Amino acid sequence: MGSLNYEHKNIFLYADDEKKRAIREYAVGYMRFIDEAKTEREAVSYLVKRAEEAGYTPFSFGETLKVGDKKYVNNRNKSLYLLRVGSEDVGKNGVRILAAHIDSPRLDLKQNPLFEKDEIAFFKTHYYGGIKKYQWATIPLALHGVVHLADGTKVTVKIGDDEGDPVFYVSDLLPHLASKQMGKPLSEAIDGESLNVWVGATPSESEEKNRFSYAALELLHEKYGMKEEDFLCAELCAVPAFRAREIGLDRALIGAYGQDDKVCSYPQFTALTENDDGVHTVIAVFADKEEIGSEGTTGMQTELFDDLLRAVADSFGANEAEMRANSMCLSGDVSASYDPQFPEVYDKRNATFLSHGAGVMKYTGARGKSGSNDAGAEYLHKIRAIFAENGVQWQTGELGKVDAGGGGTLAKYMARRNIDTLDIGVPVVSMHSPYEVVSKADLYEDHLAFKAFIKG
Ligand code: MN
Ligand code: MN
Repeated sequence: MGSLNYEHKNIFLYADDEKKRAIREYAVGYMRFIDEAKTEREAVSYLVKRAEEAGYTPFSFGETLKVGDKKYVNNRNKSLYLLRVGSEDVGKNGVRILAAHIDSPRLDLKQNPLFEKDEIAFFKTHYYGGIKKYQWATIPLALHGVVHLADGTKVTVKIGDDEGDPVFYVSDLLPHLASKQMGKPLSEAIDGESLNVWVGATPSESEEKNRFSYAALELLHEKYGMKEEDFLCAELCAVPAFRAREIGLDRALIGAYGQDDKVCSYPQFTALTENDDGVHTVIAVFADKEEIGSEGTTGMQTELFDDLLRAVADSFGANEAEMRANSMCLSGDVSASYDPQFPEVYDKRNATFLSHGAGVMKYTGARGKSGSNDAGAEYLHKIRAIFAENGVQWQTGELGKVDAGGGGTLAKYMARRNIDTLDIGVPVVSMHSPYEVVSKADLYEDHLAFKAFIKG
């Protein structure tokens, strides 16, 4: 009999050279992805392109699916569903579902964003998702999104990421004059209405009124053909202009914006496209709007997903309720990594650690698991068996100490459909900050976990 104790270990303590190389190499593609996919729109366009290269074609509702089909549904350029039809009975065996979100916290421009004050032109913003507002001041910001011009042209905006591009900025007070501000709680140091983005500091030569904001309009008109009214039909986001970088002398960690939850969506994508097993029917969901409650036509609560499940069931004459009941889902979402700098908010026995593998969360929620999926022990056991068989290293954790805070994921919206769902993801340090940190080892292990889950 081996030891009765349970422990999980740092992967770098025992990984051989081959594994270390695989970990390093896998991170390269991910870092490229995360730089190209700062918003959900950019993630969808990147993933659609890669999916098409892997043989996926657009699915139209009404179409009958057949074994071997590889299809995708691009939902309004903001969420994406990939579907691979396997050979087994979808009614009796259900489908294997991977779900992760591709939106991340940021500053959205308001619909009427442009104004000037004391010779500076600004964009007003309304932040998206849960942020610590003070973290978004004094960092370089890029502007990403789309604008629909009055003539019907759709313009894609991306300024601030390329070498030589200008960037944007939210100011903060110098310490010399901040004695009053420094006495405030962090949550009040910078308030929501003062997250105004600096866009220009020179006057227009052709206009006498509001010359500074007008100059910004002139530049936008020159570059994109847009007028001020076109902001009404725009979705523009200020996102950190940072690129993904390796962190530390050993390069074991990755720093980047938006890793919640592209650090799970990417492995979900690679697991599906690298594995052509073809036994299980697999659906991979890349959802939008998770950071604001999975609402809207592109969030996980949309019935588009139900329509897709029905299309699968109908194509094979399966009973949809039976199919859902027999389906299984891994909901890929990040967990809060234990941070030695802030040990007080974690229960160390129930926290996820950097480089200890994919982070499973049986439940999330707040104040007594409220708002949580809380996967059943039976389902956890099924997943444990799959991981054990495939040598996937995983750990389990909660989102901090009881009553320290909390949060939710997509899992409960999947579970609501009578689909067994378990949260699994990558531990993240400084989650929802402009620059989040993960371990390359956990990223790779997440990929292996998804791959094992959909393997025939
Ligand atoms: Mn997330
Ligand atoms: Mn989040």
